[in-house]
Amino acid sequence: MSEFVKNLMAQVKAKNSNEPEFHQAVFEVASSLALVLEKHPEYRKEKILERIIEPERVILFRVPWVDDQGDVQINRGFRIEMNSAIGPYKGGLRFHPSVNLGILKFLAFEQVFKNSLTTLPMGGGKGGSDFDPKGKSDGEVMRFCQSFMSELFRHIGSNTDVPAGDIGVGGREIGFMFGQYKKLRNEFTGVLTGKGLNWGGSLIRPEATGYGAVYFAAEMLSTRKQTLEGKKCLVSGSGNVAQYTVEKILHLGGKVLTLSDSNGYIYDEKGIDSEKLNFVMDLKNVRRGRIKDYTDKFKGSVYTQLDPNSEFNPLWNHKADCAFPSATQNEINGKDAANLLKNGVYVVSEGANMPSTIDAIEQFVDAKILYGPGKAANAGGVATSGLEMAQNSMRYSWTREEVDNRLHMIMKSIHKTCVDTAEKYGTPFNYVNGANIGGFVKVADAMLDQGII
Ligand code: NDP
Repeated sequence: MSEFVKNLMAQVKAKNSNEPEFHQAVFEVASSLALVLEKHPEYRKEKILERIIEPERVILFRVPWVDDQGDVQINRGFRIEMNSAIGPYKGGLRFHPSVNLGILKFLAFEQVFKNSLTTLPMGGGKGGSDFDPKGKSDGEVMRFCQSFMSELFRHIGSNTDVPAGDIGVGGREIGFMFGQYKKLRNEFTGVLTGKGLNWGGSLIRPEATGYGAVYFAAEMLSTRKQTLEGKKCLVSGSGNVAQYTVEKILHLGGKVLTLSDSNGYIYDEKGIDSEKLNFVMDLKNVRRGRIKDYTDKFKGSVYTQLDPNSEFNPLWNHKADCAFPSATQNEINGKDAANLLKNGVYVVSEGANMPSTIDAIEQFVDAKILYGPGKAANAGGVATSGLEMAQNSMRYSWTREEVDNRLHMIMKSIHKTCVDTAEKYGTPFNYVNGANIGGFVKVADAMLDQGII
């Protein structure tokens, strides 16, 4: 570890104690940037990285609401406005009981580089709440979303900060929040992305993160003159990103063996085909059930309950070619990475944000497999949010094919940026360095131009 990274991390830990995920995200980026900071003393002199790790603004607020029993509930709401050097703050909202300041700061930090990589003019932000939508009625979710937006509305706007969905925030929640924003502001603007199609949403936005992660995997494979045809794939999660990852793998001729939720995972040796995927979509998006139900419906598939005390996740311990982690942060640890490599996996395309620990990433990079880090591989979601913003500004909608083509081109361009940048800095095919440096330079140069603010 260079002296610069060591000193930076000591400062980050001292100033942001109890935020291990944020430390991890900063460490990963700073380790790559050592290469670029050596070549550009102006970035060091102007303390660009030291400024990027400090959010421009953090908003923390009370979210009171009344449950179906008439009891008052209180949650905590957050919005991290991390960096606006290249555009309005942009990034999702996460509703999950594990949400805290450190998790949202890591996500907002990653978002800055990811958004820069998309080639679109978007700054970085993230927000959410420790509210758990699981098991809540539609009425409870609506009252919570309305209360959440009753504070957030004064901080966001189509030219200021444009939130979207993330874990626990899908079309239903975006609808309730958009309705409340419109009522409070008395204006119909593209203040949120992931909107419904008949009120300003973009075709392909729900599909975009999953499709993008698969397009990125296909690009990585093309560097070895291979395709996804016939490849065996492990997918984790069963929410938005996982579902459309499976759909696109099927379009491209791959075979999907697994899906999961926070309780356990299913393994289907015959492969999850489109009929089975339709069942999962209905189970998760309409009936809001558990992935375990898959095995009751499809004989021959096996459900394994997750053991929180286990040192590894058995989902990552099957013979396969590709892995698409699409659930949550740190879901692949060092032991899981070793299992993946042992089982022949040589493509990892991250749909989730920071799903691999530092130890896991080091193993992937050392093994020289095709490892696409989340900030590059899952950037298709926010890129298509950027396309939704563009359509809202024009008051016009593009066709499905047009949006999908643009998404595909953007994923190819992100891949090229990663490959070219990694090469330029003397670490060919190191997508981690390529993504971190490629995302950083554009933001850093904008910050240099805009002075010390
Ligand atoms: P969803 O809420 O739709 O789905 C999340 C899935 O992951 C569910 O299957 C959920 O299981 C599982 N999961 C969540 N938390 C945990 C946990 N702590 N342990 C194990 N499993 C868990 O979210 P998305 O699909 O939208 O998001 C998945 C990942 O993709 C996240 O890392 C998110 O930040 C990232 N991402 C999402 C984008 C988007 O456009 N939606 C864009 C870019 C990245 P359960 O139902 O049991 O909670």
